[in-house]
Amino acid sequence: MFWWRSAAILAACALLALPVYPILGATAACLVYGIGATSVLWFHLFNLNRLARWMAEPAIDKLPESIGSWDAIFGGLYRMVRTQSKSQRLLSLTLDRFVAAGEAMPEGVVVLDENDRIEWCNPKAMQHLGLDRKKDLGQHIAYLVRQPTFQHYLAVQDYSHPVILRNLRDIDLTLSVQLVPFDTTRKMLLTRDITQLERVQTVHRDFVANVSHELRTPLTVVGGFIETLIDIPDMDAATRESQLRLMHDQTRRMGRLVEDLLTLSRLENGGELREDRVNAVALAHVLASEAEGLSQGKHKVSLQISSEAGLRGNYDELHSAFGNLVSNAVRYTPEGGELRIKWRQEGDIGVFAVEDTGIGVEPQHIPRLTERFYRVDRGRSRSTGGTGLGLAIVKHIAQRHQAKLEVKSVPGQGSCFCIRFPANRLLEPGELSSSNK
Ligand code: ADP
Repeated sequence: MFWWRSAAILAACALLALPVYPILGATAACLVYGIGATSVLWFHLFNLNRLARWMAEPAIDKLPESIGSWDAIFGGLYRMVRTQSKSQRLLSLTLDRFVAAGEAMPEGVVVLDENDRIEWCNPKAMQHLGLDRKKDLGQHIAYLVRQPTFQHYLAVQDYSHPVILRNLRDIDLTLSVQLVPFDTTRKMLLTRDITQLERVQTVHRDFVANVSHELRTPLTVVGGFIETLIDIPDMDAATRESQLRLMHDQTRRMGRLVEDLLTLSRLENGGELREDRVNAVALAHVLASEAEGLSQGKHKVSLQISSEAGLRGNYDELHSAFGNLVSNAVRYTPEGGELRIKWRQEGDIGVFAVEDTGIGVEPQHIPRLTERFYRVDRGRSRSTGGTGLGLAIVKHIAQRHQAKLEVKSVPGQGSCFCIRFPANRLLEPGELSSSNK
């Protein structure tokens, strides 16, 4: 309905020209009408030009103002541009939020275009795949992730399962990588660091294999003897007794292993620590007499106590940890050697130590001694009744008491295994009850 104003003006010009015609003639009338029509035309051309100029640079604050139908047009345009810029602002805000969410994702995300070229990636993907957001945008993903497994995955186009990439860029990194098609032509590449998960799985697998192996040997021995006893019912008494004795040893070995496994599992489950007021001096005396019992007079056992402090901790666990260190010292020290059980304070730290003059440990083995079933000499450990779990148990108990196990050793000369307790675990002698605990 914008045209009616111009039509009205043209009609008014015609009305004005009508009385001129009889008085001044046709030329004058046409002149009057022409002036009116030209003014209308000029007005429209002028505003059309302003509109064209504005369209070249459509800023909302530069929208021209006018009158008549052009006022309505410019007003309409103003409202349209304002609504559009509002929804654009909203859209870019939503987009920013999505980008921020993508950036914060704990998994790597790479958006690929229809030709598998990188359109966008988040920092985690940069870290996982070694991408550079400045240089690598627009690059084909296969140029940057060169592992044959990935190239094959990309080529086969079966993206229903992730693919595992190991030792990417020659670092110890295992990634689970999956392509997810979206938006008909684009793909999203998702990367997840599963290095730790794989490590745990390997430890678990090794553990099961080790336990099976440890149990298989005594089971085979016992099974073999039972078969012999069945096959030869009239076996002489001496052989029979020696075989029964061996079977007894093997079942005891299995029993010790199961016992240690249960202890370890209890400790690893991390139940709440029952805290006693442990009289460390009394405990050291108990351990010294246990060492004498284990040694059966083959070693010189001494006790060096220079602190009266007690320990806040679980008596049974601490007894078990210290007992393992003492038992190891006896088992890995040849006859005639010495064992020293020590309890002292170094500043505000409590130190329980077991020193021996035994076979010692080569430095390269020391960091691995607390691994389950890690032994320097498998044969010696087994022949002395070891399960390979003792130091793993010690480490867990120490951790539960916020203490640290330290090992110093010189091959052929001896070792010192000590547990260092933090100040908040120490008790004044007056805080101890009269019992051993
Ligand atoms: P094991 O039952 O084999 O003794 P542990 O976990 O107690 O298992 O010890 C792990 C390994 O650490 C042992 O097999 C042994 O090689 C070494 N080890 C532990 N204590 C001593 C020690 N006092 N002297 C020398 N080696 C030791």
